[in-house]
Amino acid sequence: MATTPLTGVEITELATGLNRLARNLWWTWDQSAQDLFQELSPRGWQNLYHNAVAVLHEVSDYELRVRLQDPEFAGRVRQVLDRFEAYLRRTDTWAARHAPQLVHRPVAYFSAEFGFHETLPIAAGGLGVLAGDHAKSASDLGLAFVGVSLFYREGYFMQSFNPENWQTEYYSLLDPRNLPMEPVLDPRGEPLVGTVRIAAATVAFRAWRVNVGRCPVYLLDTDLPENEPHYRDLTARVYGGDSTTRIMQEILLGVGGVRLLRQLGYQPAVFHLNEGHAAFLTLELIREKLAAGLTFTEAQAATRAECLFTTHTPVEAGHDRFSSDLMQYCAHKFCTQLKLTHDELMGLGRVHPDDPNEPFCMTVLALRHSRAANAVSELHGRVSRQMWHPLYPDRPVEQVPIGHITNGVHLLGWMKGRVRKFWRDRVHKAVANGHGVLAQTAHLYVDEANTPEFWAALADPATASDEEIWALRYQLRRELIEFTRRRLLLQGEHLTRTAFIEYDHLLNPDALTIGFARRFATYKRAALLFQHFDQIVALAKDRRRPVQFIFAGKAHPRDQEGKRLLQHIRHLAQHTALRGHLVFIENYDMHVARQMVSGCDVWLNTPRRPLEASGTSGMKAAINGCLNLSILDGWWREGYDGTNGFAIGNDSHPDSIEEQDRRDADNLLRVLSEEVIPCFYNRDAAGVPRQWIKRIRRAWVTLVPRFNTWRMVQEYTTRYYLPPEPA
Ligand SMILES: *Cc1c(COP(=O)(O)O)cnc(C)c1O
Repeated sequence: MATTPLTGVEITELATGLNRLARNLWWTWDQSAQDLFQELSPRGWQNLYHNAVAVLHEVSDYELRVRLQDPEFAGRVRQVLDRFEAYLRRTDTWAARHAPQLVHRPVAYFSAEFGFHETLPIAAGGLGVLAGDHAKSASDLGLAFVGVSLFYREGYFMQSFNPENWQTEYYSLLDPRNLPMEPVLDPRGEPLVGTVRIAAATVAFRAWRVNVGRCPVYLLDTDLPENEPHYRDLTARVYGGDSTTRIMQEILLGVGGVRLLRQLGYQPAVFHLNEGHAAFLTLELIREKLAAGLTFTEAQAATRAECLFTTHTPVEAGHDRFSSDLMQYCAHKFCTQLKLTHDELMGLGRVHPDDPNEPFCMTVLALRHSRAANAVSELHGRVSRQMWHPLYPDRPVEQVPIGHITNGVHLLGWMKGRVRKFWRDRVHKAVANGHGVLAQTAHLYVDEANTPEFWAALADPATASDEEIWALRYQLRRELIEFTRRRLLLQGEHLTRTAFIEYDHLLNPDALTIGFARRFATYKRAALLFQHFDQIVALAKDRRRPVQFIFAGKAHPRDQEGKRLLQHIRHLAQHTALRGHLVFIENYDMHVARQMVSGCDVWLNTPRRPLEASGTSGMKAAINGCLNLSILDGWWREGYDGTNGFAIGNDSHPDSIEEQDRRDADNLLRVLSEEVIPCFYNRDAAGVPRQWIKRIRRAWVTLVPRFNTWRMVQEYTTRYYLPPEPA
């Protein structure tokens, strides 16, 4: 094939384009874009933890130009960049059709954490990952959306263990130059600086912009020389420090966030408070309105009309409460600004405003100043209405104004690379053969792939045979096991001279592999599985039908109970009959999550009902053909239909915690030994577990089109973001 070499100008254009691409997280959910960075430096890709910006720093400008002289590579770069530009410019979007008001005036989404990708570890868990997925889908749908959060320079902690298996935490410094973010500059090209009054100080902040497809997310950062050291460190860590740090971070997020948006010229149509952490933004909105001449009551009403609040947990400790003293010390400036007495200010965050013993609760502040509020699953809605009923004493509990929108996950972000390629090839083939539904959608990269028809067509045996799906599942399990071997070798557990050989034989690529990975909060009951220890050992060691377990997760640095659970699980893995059948991967993050939810056969979830407000990792599992085995709590209570996974117990729970734990442990063992293991090992003459694969197909058809953030953001938009219809 004759090809003309590229001109110097063309090469410069492509190199610039690649640099721009690396600084937009769009590449994290586009397989061909990701392939380009991986190909530029395969080893760097791995060592730099899939950081496209860092890979481009690793490759010299000269090397990049040389590589782009290869017309084949340059051609693929051009294709990806064209698609990227088309994505950014697309005007025929879902939002243009269904919410034209929100194409120009944005939704401002405030969240104390955002989980976008493993290279930017500024999330502690599910709440942040949900926020990141929300932003990605808002971009896909063409919604004007702007996110606000903090830049945690030391990120969320890294996990290690001392010889007693007690979790210890350490932190590494993030370097903005090596991250997919850009400084926000003022018109003179200097970093834009804003200020917020916290305690007795005027704290300065700057901001970084993360590009999430079409949507910017701004991260506030107080690490500026003009601040006292104490305030320079304010944004150092995700949920670091004590409640003083907490309240100061939240004042910065709420007040600083609104000020930053104003400095940048934003007039958002809606302020969406993702959890109560951001609720101080309502006080800043009231202040603005007072300054414009409104009375306090008018300003409060106008603020309510602009705000939407999502509550994320029925666990009491998950709701920030600040003492009167702490408020007096840190937040007294609100009193001057809003012309309130301290007691009046406290009253805004109290269920009973006049009760001097009640602390200031961010959830109460948020509920009082939002035109609508929602929980994140149906059951969580019911529990939340009960929980906040005292705030609405003159209504029956069913009429407490908290609705629900069940969470989702960003489909392409959570589809493992291998699975993306699997479908891409098959969809292309089906399109070439004129397959109706698939031909209309043509690829997985648009929001139409969100329909039940599309997933029914994908799950059709004509698109992918049982044998192909089983081979895919085998590849995914092997990739996970090889990843786990590498990780355990690096973790250096029981290192011996023959370590490499030993680690090459760790875990069994043919065995039913059960995964459990999440924050080690007590209510998630990580050890429930091992309640019937001897029976679990017998199941694991069954030579004909072996089972193995992979665990991961972090406990909050101050959660002693969570750390005890971790210690227990690691002890089982190292010193009991489960050794070799149970392993623990350290440093759970989005990358580990992606490996586990795709490579495991079964995703185990054992929360104490009804404390798992929604849960999202099981949705990620479903996308990749890993079946859920879960308590009927949160999303699974809505998703499970008897054919698409496995349920532990039924849609009820006893009042007594002891009774609940006992019953759930019994049911778990029973379902595992009577349903899950037989179904997995029931192979036909060709060696294929037909019934198992049938369940995978059912999960694709029934779960994936519902439990994704395209559906979720569409629901937020039509039910909450659009201005209420005039009555
Ligand atoms: C998805 C995800 C979570 C949330 O999972 P749950 O099922 O809600 O516990 C937490 N941490 C990481 C890294 C995730 O990717």
